Amino acid sequence: MPSKSKTRRPRLAHTLPALHRAIAELRRRNASLALVPTMGALHDGHLSLVRLAKRRANKVVVSIFVNPAQFAAHEDLSSYPRTWKEDVAKLTAEGVDLIWNPAAGIMYPDGFATRLAPEGPASAGLEDRIRPHFFGGVATVVCKLFTQTRPDFAIFGEKDYQQLKVVTQMSRDLDLRVKVVGAPVKRERDGLAMSSRNVYLSAEHRAAAPVLFRTLKECATRLRAGDAVADVMRDGGQEVTNAGFALDYLDARHAETLAPVTSPKDGPLRLLIAAKIGSTRLIDNIKV
Ligand code: AMP
Repeated sequence: MPSKSKTRRPRLAHTLPALHRAIAELRRRNASLALVPTMGALHDGHLSLVRLAKRRANKVVVSIFVNPAQFAAHEDLSSYPRTWKEDVAKLTAEGVDLIWNPAAGIMYPDGFATRLAPEGPASAGLEDRIRPHFFGGVATVVCKLFTQTRPDFAIFGEKDYQQLKVVTQMSRDLDLRVKVVGAPVKRERDGLAMSSRNVYLSAEHRAAAPVLFRTLKECATRLRAGDAVADVMRDGGQEVTNAGFALDYLDARHAETLAPVTSPKDGPLRLLIAAKIGSTRLIDNIKV
């Protein structure tokens, strides 16, 4: 039986004054605060972040904002899944304290003219090469979310590994005093990383999709056994292509800096992949 406090609906804030009032109340008696930024269409991966947030802090805020600034014109902003009612029900069951759900005009009012230009991990040549627009939009909105909610912690998924590094760097560089915490990738039973975009997959493409994680695991095993990075990446790319994917990248990088590596001796490694099947683009990564 869920406890009574677990079933209390979170407060909802749609405007900045309402948000600031709600945060001030949550902060009474020196409560610590964790923020979980999302774009909604919540699945168990998002909820695992909420659970981690609850372990880190007394109070938890979840933001739901589909951020136009991180979508290029040809990307899926208008069709991005929106499931507000279900999202609120899931966050209620998790005992979240506050949902911050601004309209685009509140985040980016008329005349808005500032955009961060992150470097370092944001220019590693992975997602940034395929989506040059992306990390500027992410850094800008996350910086705003941090200054709006002023959390002690912010939880981000390792699912978006390069994004986790970009946001960590941004928080440090801009002295935002938010500790960015990474959460492990939550997967379906067959290994596919959970994603709001998985609903786009046809039955046939959904059946093919676990090849990404399978390939990452095989590549990691070979790298640990000492096989050459270039050979392993070539074979892994072939496997994914054979399963019907168009590969954007499969690469082994330094797990912290995301710098290219030639051998497992170059430091802790992370394998990252992005590939498209039909019109759905999927990303995944694992530790080596
Ligand atoms: P999104 O709503 O897709 O922007 O994701 C919001 C947050 O949830 C980001 O920090 C993601 O990295 C994280 N996230 C998304 N999918 C997963 C997953 N399968 N496992 C863990 N975290 C995830």
